[in-house]
Amino acid sequence: MHPPEADVVLVRHGELGVKSEQVRRKMEDRLAQNLRAMFDARGLSGDIERRRNRLFVHTAEPDAVADAAADTFGVVSASPARTVEPTLESIEAALVAATEAHYDGGTFAVDAARAGPSDAHPFASTDIESEGGAAVWDTIESLSQDPAVDLDDPDFRLFVECRQDAAYVFLEKRAGPGGLPLGTQRPVVALVSGGIDSPVAAWKLMARGCPVVPVYVDLGDYGGPDHRARARATVETLASYAPGEEMAMHVVDAGAVVADLEAEMGDLRMLALRRYMLVAAEAVAESEQAVGVVTGEAIGQKSSQTSANIAVTDAAASLPVHRPLLAMDKADITNLARRIGTFEDATVDTGCNRVAPELPETNADLYALRAAEPSDLFERARACAEAREVVLIER
Ligand code: ATP
Ligand code: MG
Repeated sequence: MHPPEADVVLVRHGELGVKSEQVRRKMEDRLAQNLRAMFDARGLSGDIERRRNRLFVHTAEPDAVADAAADTFGVVSASPARTVEPTLESIEAALVAATEAHYDGGTFAVDAARAGPSDAHPFASTDIESEGGAAVWDTIESLSQDPAVDLDDPDFRLFVECRQDAAYVFLEKRAGPGGLPLGTQRPVVALVSGGIDSPVAAWKLMARGCPVVPVYVDLGDYGGPDHRARARATVETLASYAPGEEMAMHVVDAGAVVADLEAEMGDLRMLALRRYMLVAAEAVAESEQAVGVVTGEAIGQKSSQTSANIAVTDAAASLPVHRPLLAMDKADITNLARRIGTFEDATVDTGCNRVAPELPETNADLYALRAAEPSDLFERARACAEAREVVLIER
């Protein structure tokens, strides 16, 4: 929802403000570049103007531009707005027009903020609120409705941001993902199975600025083409959040290893497979100059993810393994998967066979696991990573 004649989108970013001047400038540069790439990917046009703690996108497509900004990492919120003269009269006129266009009954509030030196305007933000509020009140009456103010939780909220050279009137703050602009951190490898969890985990690292290198481990007969297609679909969705980055899915074969683990190992085989995956991911990280691995594990979510079992799988890796979902409940992870758009692909039935044994170990001992797993497990992981297939994600 935006006021009539909206011509700009206010883009707010969060944590960038607390950085040193130099770091902040670099991050803002990157954010502007990423916004540009997002607009280009969606065929949108707009001029990005940078100001302290804000970006302004001047555009004829404020709705779509605000949506694109709200999908860009580092953006806290975006508001399609109308620019007016920084005078009480102009602001009131815009508030009246917005009310006439969008008021739909219920309570209202006018929320104003003023930026700049204290003598920049001959009025205070409270004057905008009281006089603007009075104008909105009269407008609602003229629409033959009963006005009522609720400052805490209004049904209809009008915002004014008044700066020295212009004022902006808007009706909503569309929530973005927050975090840091993508590309402001070194990349990490993301182990992506295409299930509900791992794409969310990868997305969370992206939201902290890390580009991801997705690695899918092909389980041979235990996975299958549908399983792989599902992983690829979720990687494509992740790629849509990274329009400026090249993205490829790295496919590491584990068909033969899985068959051997199945034949040679008992209750511990899932853990050996998880260790194989981490070592393969680390080998890919090394060749892609990535500095960590991200997985979708959450404590206790399945037998291979008990706190004890995470300890023994982790011991296979020397790079840090990031587990952003570690302490999250499945319901919250699922909600996030829905929000970012990976849920539907993730829940496509792949009919894949299960590698897990009937009664998997939940409290594994590292020495016992090392003794039970094939001695060349890690070498095979590195060799399969070396021989990986790289599937470019076309956009
Ligand atoms: P997800 O829901 O993410 O598919 P999961 O809950 O099924 O994971 P596991 O199968 O134990 O749990 O996998 C734990 C983590 O290991 C996953 O979140 C993912 O990061 C990684 N992983 C599992 N299987 C694969 C695979 N075939 N390819 C790449 N990574 C995988
Ligand atoms: Mg899971």
